[in-house]
Amino acid sequence: MESPARAIEFLVELRRDDEAAVLGRYALAREPCIDGARIRAALNSLGSPPDGWHEAVLAFAQAPSVEAWDELLLFTPHDALYHRTRSALQALIRLGVDGDVLFRCATRHGTTPDAIQLIECGLVDPDTVVRRAEHAPHTARGQGPVRGCVAWSRVVFSDHRVRLATFDWLTSQVRAHGEVLPRQLLADGLVLDGRRVPLVGPQGIFKPAVLSDAPLSITTSPKGPYDDSFGPDGLLRYRYRGTDPMHHENVGLRTAMQKRLPLVYFHGILPGRYLAVWPVFVVQDHPAELAFDVAVDDVSAVRERFAETDGSFVMDDGDSARRRYITSTTRQRLHQNSFREKVLRAYREQCALCRLRHVELLDAAHIIPDWQEHGDPVVANGLALCKLHHAAFDRYFIGIRPDFRIEVRADMLREKDGPMLRHGLQGMHDRVILLPRSRELWPDPERLRQRYKEFRQAS
Ligand SMILES: [Zn+2]
Repeated sequence: MESPARAIEFLVELRRDDEAAVLGRYALAREPCIDGARIRAALNSLGSPPDGWHEAVLAFAQAPSVEAWDELLLFTPHDALYHRTRSALQALIRLGVDGDVLFRCATRHGTTPDAIQLIECGLVDPDTVVRRAEHAPHTARGQGPVRGCVAWSRVVFSDHRVRLATFDWLTSQVRAHGEVLPRQLLADGLVLDGRRVPLVGPQGIFKPAVLSDAPLSITTSPKGPYDDSFGPDGLLRYRYRGTDPMHHENVGLRTAMQKRLPLVYFHGILPGRYLAVWPVFVVQDHPAELAFDVAVDDVSAVRERFAETDGSFVMDDGDSARRRYITSTTRQRLHQNSFREKVLRAYREQCALCRLRHVELLDAAHIIPDWQEHGDPVVANGLALCKLHHAAFDRYFIGIRPDFRIEVRADMLREKDGPMLRHGLQGMHDRVILLPRSRELWPDPERLRQRYKEFRQAS
């Protein structure tokens, strides 16, 4: 008996997909089937895009519209429609085409998994979803407007969408308030389509009611020693709630690890003041030590990866290296912000020299620089200084004696110039700096002595 495989392959080459499919299925159904594997391979290659497809997708990205979409898919055989649509949408997401337009294209003939995925990625405006649901065509399968609307409103509040909306909201809050955010703001959280999404709760591991199984954030309290939130491998070390690994909050965090869901980490710097870090992933569980390892990642990597896959965040070695790098830079950021917050708070948000009160113009200066011995980021090694006095202190125009008295360099005292020199610098001479209320936060006289010695040598 002659094998039909060659004929089927020939039809596939000619792109006569329908004939190839009919003949192939007929051959496979016959007993005995000769060359079954070859026939199946030929049928699997059906639906691979024709020449010029890639160029057509790029052209669509230049001027996307529902009409252009219809044209793009006009000659796609019915059998190939599903795969062709899917690959086109994923390519277009990567090209940055507007999510609302893509959603209208993807829902051209009813609800599709791709349309739902677009919503889950947070790429579609909820209004677009609701409008589309209202005007959904009644199809033969009975996907009327009501059914469509229910299905879509469920995905509008899908897990990923809540997370991505949270990241966007945090970005705008940091822009408005700076890196360190007040707790009340986080407790109020954001409003997503009329529903409130708080970001923190009474416990460290927090899941808002809009999410179904895994938490949205983890928080460390501002007490505790400075470095206690990092493990020996440089990753964040997050302690279990209590000592029961099966406590539902610990189970929730384990779910986030298994599903590779991105979370927010709130690092308490001072009571009521938190540094937000996102997205973070739970990457390792240590039941014996009652702790999880947490790695920091990059939002754009998360979005990109999500658009490429069917909804789960897949990790590879590149991710792991990137996360290690980002986590270590985050650690520095936490330390710097923590030092700044503590020093400014100790000095009641005023320059220790001139009493200037504008936080935006204040720095936390080190008495002993952080790259030297005793240069620790502790309040006793810090001074709240305005930008001018910070620079003057760093360049040895100004010294501070161990008895907290200010000394201006002798040659500068003799200079003649405008009011900034007279009031801003010469006027500081022989005055005593502003000190924190609590004595244990005062500048360490030993460190001041070392620094003052350098000032004398420089002048
Ligand atoms: Zn000042």
